[in-house]
Amino acid sequence: MAAISRETEAIVLDCFEHGESDVILTLLSRDAGRLSVIAKGAKRSKKRFVNKLELFSFLHITYQISPNRNLSFLSEAELHTSFLNIRQNFCLYTTASILREFLLITIREGEADEQLFRLSLWALHNIDRHLQPLAILALFLINFYGIIGYRPDFTGCNMCNKQTTVNRRYSFDTTTGGLICPDCSRQGQRLVRLSHGTIKMLQSAQIQPLERLHRLKISGNLLQESLSLLHDYGRQLFQREIISWRLLQKQQSANHDKPKYR
Ligand SMILES: [Zn+2]
Repeated sequence: MAAISRETEAIVLDCFEHGESDVILTLLSRDAGRLSVIAKGAKRSKKRFVNKLELFSFLHITYQISPNRNLSFLSEAELHTSFLNIRQNFCLYTTASILREFLLITIREGEADEQLFRLSLWALHNIDRHLQPLAILALFLINFYGIIGYRPDFTGCNMCNKQTTVNRRYSFDTTTGGLICPDCSRQGQRLVRLSHGTIKMLQSAQIQPLERLHRLKISGNLLQESLSLLHDYGRQLFQREIISWRLLQKQQSANHDKPKYR
């Protein structure tokens, strides 16, 4: 059976050298979800792939699917953007790495998701533009959880249904993905305390269209609480540490002027 040729847009999430001259890539593709391809001779080629197969690069690719093989062959790659600022700035790189780690944990072969693809591109573009990278990370994650089917619920207390008010301090229960009011919270629950402002901001972030999402300004306490919630929720959902988040925390601790995140 002959190989089938396909084209799609894709973001490079992982790349490593294979043998003396090949490179294997893991991609988030627009039309096929997670895609693993091998770029034969990429390490030696002076023209075909040079500077294109780097982490986070946004490409238009042509690849060949061979029957009975897990890996497809990358035949052409055209660079849309390399997100150069992300690759050259350590803080931006760490932030984008968290996003990359969440994607690698969740995306599956053959499961294309236009919404997730657009959200990921949106986040990389805005991180690359130095537009409040941590706020962009928070806005990415709150929508990411929704897309993968774990949308956090901020409508009221999980247990008694009481609506949130300015004066009552609700918490987020990472095991149920919903809010708990002060009356219903019990010891031993994995709770993240949230201010009313944070709850309202996160609710708003869940309903904004992508074109307007970057207009939401998150800073100070709202950003700290949001990131704590989104980090803890991810660890609980996936039952694992998000390694790049540790790196972010180290950077934050090294810089005493900026807030630290759990
Ligand atoms: Zn309650």
